[in-house]
Parts: sequence; C-alpha cells; structure tokens
Amino acid sequence: MRNGRFVILGNGGAAVSAAEAARLSGYRGEILLVSDVAEPAFNPMLSPYYFKGKIPWAGCYPLAAGFYRDHDVACRLGEPVVALDPDRRRITLGDGRTVAYDACLIATGAAPAVPPIPGLRESAHAFTLRNAASARRLDEQMLTARRAIVFGVSLVGMKMAEILARRGIAVVLLGRGRQVLSRGTHPAVAAVLRRYIEARGVDVRLGCTIAGVEDTGNGVLCRLSDGTTEPADILLVCTGIRPNLAFLDCGQVTIDQAVLTDERMRTSADGLYAAGDACQALNPITGRHDWLGTWGNACAQGRVAGRQVAGVDAALPGALPQHVSPFFDWTYAHVGDIQPGDGDVRHVAFGDAEDGGYALFSFRDGIVTGANMINCAHLAGPLKSAILRGARGDERLLRGGDGHPLAAAESILDGCRLGRLDHRQHDGGAGGRRARPAVTAAGAFSPP
Ligand SMILES: Cc1cc2nc3c(=O)[nH]c(=O)nc-3n(C[C@H](O)[C@H](O)[C@H](O)COP(=O)(O)OP(=O)(O)OC[C@H]3O[C@@H](n4cnc5c(N)ncnc54)[C@H](O)[C@@H]3O)c2cc1C
Repeated sequence: MRNGRFVILGNGGAAVSAAEAARLSGYRGEILLVSDVAEPAFNPMLSPYYFKGKIPWAGCYPLAAGFYRDHDVACRLGEPVVALDPDRRRITLGDGRTVAYDACLIATGAAPAVPPIPGLRESAHAFTLRNAASARRLDEQMLTARRAIVFGVSLVGMKMAEILARRGIAVVLLGRGRQVLSRGTHPAVAAVLRRYIEARGVDVRLGCTIAGVEDTGNGVLCRLSDGTTEPADILLVCTGIRPNLAFLDCGQVTIDQAVLTDERMRTSADGLYAAGDACQALNPITGRHDWLGTWGNACAQGRVAGRQVAGVDAALPGALPQHVSPFFDWTYAHVGDIQPGDGDVRHVAFGDAEDGGYALFSFRDGIVTGANMINCAHLAGPLKSAILRGARGDERLLRGGDGHPLAAAESILDGCRLGRLDHRQHDGGAGGRRARPAVTAAGAFSPP
C-alpha cells in the first residue's frame, strides 16, 4: 500500500520509527500520528541518564527538530485513543470523534503496573517512572527527599536505587522474590550484584512486600509484610509494566499479555499492525510470541511495520533478550536465556568482576544459550551472534578448563567459526587474571 491513510497510535520509539520507515520506503499517503501526550516523542530509558547528570533534559527527546514536518506526518498530540474498531477500520478519540484508516499501527507502549495495595494508588508520595511528566515529578521530589523506598528489584528499580543513593538519599530497595533482577539473571550473579549495591549503601530487603501505605503529610508510612514500618519521602513503584491497550476489544484482535503479531508485525486483523511494548511478536528463534520490552526492539519492530505499510516486505528474524546497565562503577550485561529449561543445563562461571571481568554462561546440551557478564559487556555482541548461530561450547570449556571471560567467549566463537576476539583490545594487553572457573549442573556454582 503506497497511498491511503496510515494512522499511528502512540509517539514513542516504535511509532516514530514506523513513520520514518514508511516515508523512506516510498509511502506517499497520509500519515496521522495520534498520541495522548501533547509533547514530541520522549525516550523513557534515557531519564535515568538525565537523573545522573549524564545528559541534559533535552537529551531525553530523541527526534531532531522538524522531524514530523520533514516526514510529512500530521500529528494529533494530547488526544488519547479510546476505541479501535478493526472491522470498520476506525479509531475513536477521547472527545468522541472518529478517524478512519487504511492501515493502523498500535504503538501505545506500556504503563507502570501498580499493585492493588491499600493506600498505594491514592498516595501523593508514590511515584512511577515512564513518561516525561512522571520523570519531571520525580526529579523535583528528589531535590528535597531524605528517605526513599524503591519497590521492585527490576533493572529500573536497581538503577533508581543507585541514583537515589548517589544523591545522598537513604534507600530501602524492596523485592517480593528471593533475588534481584529475576528476569534473565542467574541467582548467584544476582547475589553478587545485591552485595555490591548493599556495600554502596542501598538497604536491600528481599522476600518482603508492602502490606499498606498511609500518607503522613510530608511523606508516607509503609507497612511491610515482615511486620515493620518504614517512613519515606518518596515511594517509587518499579513492579513491572502492562501494555496500554484499554482501547482494544480482545474479541476483535488476538491478545495474550500484549497484542500478538507475526514477524511482519501483522496482528490478527487486516490492516492492523502492532510494535514495541504493546505487542508480543513471533520470534522465529524461540518459536514463541516474545515480549522483549526494550527501546531497540521497539524501534526495529516499528521500522518493519512502516515498511510493510509502504508495500515493502520486511520481517524481523527474531531477537534475543539483551541488556547492558551500569550499576555504580560496575557494568552488568545479560544476553540470551540463562535458565533455558529442559535438557542437560550447565552453568560455567569465569573470571573476577573486579579484575578483568566475570562471565557466567549457560549451556543446554552443550549449546550456549545465554550469559551474564559483569565488567565485560563488550562480550555481549559477539556472544549474541554465537547464540543465534547455535554455537557449541568446546569440551575444554564445559569441563571448566583454564578460563578468563575473554578466553571462554573466544572458545564459543571458535565453536561457530566467527573468528577470535582481540585480547589486546579488550584487556589492555595485560591478559587479565586467570581465574579457575567453577562448573556444575544448573544452579550450583561458586560466585566470583
Ligand atoms: C526508567 C526506564 C528505563 C529503561 N531502560 C531501558 C534500557 O536501559 N534499555 C532498553 O532497551 N529499554 C529500557 N526501557 C524500556 C524502553 O524505554 C521501552 O521498551 C520503549 O520505550 C518502548 O517503546 P514504545 O514505543 O513501544 O512505547 P513507549 O515509549 O511507551 O511509547 C508509547 C507511546 O504511546 C502513547 N500512548 C499510550 N497510550 C495511548 C493512547 N491510549 N492513545 C494515544 N497514545 C497513547 C504514549 O504517550 C507514548 O507516546 C526503560 C524504560 C524505563 C521507563
């Protein structure tokens, strides 16, 4: 389709990538972008960098001035979509007006999921972090706060605990589960990261939740599940997200946790696409409909949808979970699947976080499936390629031969003939400390 009206719902990474890709692929019809927020596109993942003072506020807005005009995109900003009728191919805006479409992209992302804890949703001192308004509100509160509770030990929760602690605010980091970073991180690596942030002043309490919240004038008093109470000026809720899909009727479009799409970002309804945090796309690598929840993935999916609408066939070959995050002076990265499920699952750990880097690899039936890395994030890219190619760990590696993260990664890369990493480039020529690795079947091994 090179003409007609292409309506894009949302104004985040997925939405603007779709608009740009459609134009670059020769789409000549009308593009109408509709968003509930009356601002240019905002990149939520950059707000922690702003809080740390690494970028100015303007740096959280990814688009060049004139983006919408240059790509001939008409905008209705500050107008939420409240209904979508795929059979009649039309959307309804907050004021009741309807807009017909020939093609439509759902790129409405996600919003923080706030648990139904008594007093939490009503609290004037409870914060979430997703859009520009929530980031500004939190920024202002951090200026005077002395105590904070971060509820949720996700990557965002961990990052925010660091930011608050660096500002001299006493932080309690609360998690319901038994480890920090339960998604994609081996428990032993999580324990190392927990000890590291505790040593920097963050009070981590796991297996603990909030039973009730009460505003006390200037702050909040939280009743915890362990029977104690905790006062705070900021209660930051980082307990996950849910897709923004209230306008969709699940009888008309197939939805699991988010809208299901194929690898071309097509939904079950004709002319209707979905991309980014609002969708679970078919991942040909895993064979599942995965929800990846990353900025890069949202933009890549948006580009595929934009090309499709322009009549250019495009598909995503699938994506592996991947994340790199600084925590204080460490850099933590994970790629792939660290708990790959059935089969002969082994975990092999190499190196030393404080001396040349530490990496833990997971194997299923000898094939590498994922890795957690501390202070050697440069391995993530080559490892990702190796995982995608089904690389096999050699016998020496699986037996736990002499090992440094670089050597281990080389061995995996050799296994799929990708070539060798350059030691001089990555360890300054010093070669790093040769630590004995610890190898066991799934779950039990010595942390660094
Ligand atoms: C604090 C934080 C840190 C993060 N760190 C990282 C990181 O380090 N690396 C990484 O890859 N990812 C990170 N992420 C996740 C990343 O930001 C998201 O995966 C990405 O923004 C998803 O893009 P999207 O376009 O799908 O959705 P969004 O960015 O959520 O955009 C959705 C758009 O839809 C609009 N919208 C919503 N509902 C409606 C409606 N009813 N009608 C009209 N418009 C609507 C919204 O206003 C918004 O414009 C982080 C997120 C947060 C909050």
